[in-house]
Amino acid sequence: MNTLLLENNEKDIKTAGKILANGGLVAIPTETVYGLAANALDGNAVKKIFKAKGRPADNPLIVHIADFDDIKRYKLARDLTEKAVKLAQRFWSGPLTIILKKGASVPDEVSAGLDTVAIRFPSHKTAQAVIKASGCPLAAPSANLSGSPSPTTALHVMSDLNGKIDAVLDGGECSVGLESTVITLTTDKPRLLRPGAVTVEQIESVIGELSVDDAVLNQLEKGAKASSPGMKYKHYSPKARVILVSSGDEKYINFVNERKARDVAALCYKGDEKGIDTCCFILGEKDNYIEQAHELFKLLREIDKNPSIKTVYARCPKPDGVGMAVYNRLIRAAGFEVINLEEI
Ligand code: AMP
Ligand code: MG
Repeated sequence: MNTLLLENNEKDIKTAGKILANGGLVAIPTETVYGLAANALDGNAVKKIFKAKGRPADNPLIVHIADFDDIKRYKLARDLTEKAVKLAQRFWSGPLTIILKKGASVPDEVSAGLDTVAIRFPSHKTAQAVIKASGCPLAAPSANLSGSPSPTTALHVMSDLNGKIDAVLDGGECSVGLESTVITLTTDKPRLLRPGAVTVEQIESVIGELSVDDAVLNQLEKGAKASSPGMKYKHYSPKARVILVSSGDEKYINFVNERKARDVAALCYKGDEKGIDTCCFILGEKDNYIEQAHELFKLLREIDKNPSIKTVYARCPKPDGVGMAVYNRLIRAAGFEVINLEEI
């Protein structure tokens, strides 16, 4: 299949809408990462997403809408609880996904057979325009091959999916750079399933206590059931072995220098590179988690471009605020391999 490269203009947005309305696949920009979209109400179209990505069929998709009322209009959810309405008022449009009881029109392919559905209203104007042009809600996971880092540019999408999907709409670089925060309102108490740019503290300020699912910060025990199926799969991993190093600045720099070699790289904070004698990829300022979130996936792909790099020693962020999202992605990239030199 020839993958069309569409531009961010009215004519190409219309083309994207038509492809989607006809059951095709289009990768679209959002504020989080690029999403691989299909008509969420068409099970056959949604099946193509799983095939193109090589995504396990038991990993459900997020349904993207362009108006809060789309939830009712398309019968996406059975009941819109008071907490859901409050969260939507505060954080939509934006990088928060809310899981609700599934409505009648959502095919099993989207929810992977679960009785629940994940819904998000993205703030990216082009994403909104494509949803409107298609005339349907769009199921869209990240537009990467399953297991590789999520794409934050149209070029990343092309390098994974060229020839496998109908089109990519190039809307430039994604502003957040990590996938949305996912919370469920279908459990006894609201629970965080995936951290993102909307933080636990921000959500708690609107609906009160939010528990953090064990799998957010820890490795699931073998055979344990994941509340969010996506959390049980190895994720975001570059080809090199990534190891997190929990440490202060000086110890980290010494640790890396003691291991310096042609096939060793550091994924470090701004300033560390001055003391390090091996190849450095700079995640951002130490306390600027928003900057780190923006850079992380891009850097993991950069590392992959250099096949001689076999080991990457990465700084371990504090899992606070947006740092929780950076930590969650990095620890998966590292396959949960952490070296504890000192408390951070
Ligand atoms: P992605 O689309 O790649 O950002 O992945 C979507 C994430 O949301 C995955 O981790 C899914 O497991 C999770 N997800 C989607 N729908 C549900 C659902 N109904 N219940 C629990 N997790 C979900
Ligand atoms: Mg993904």
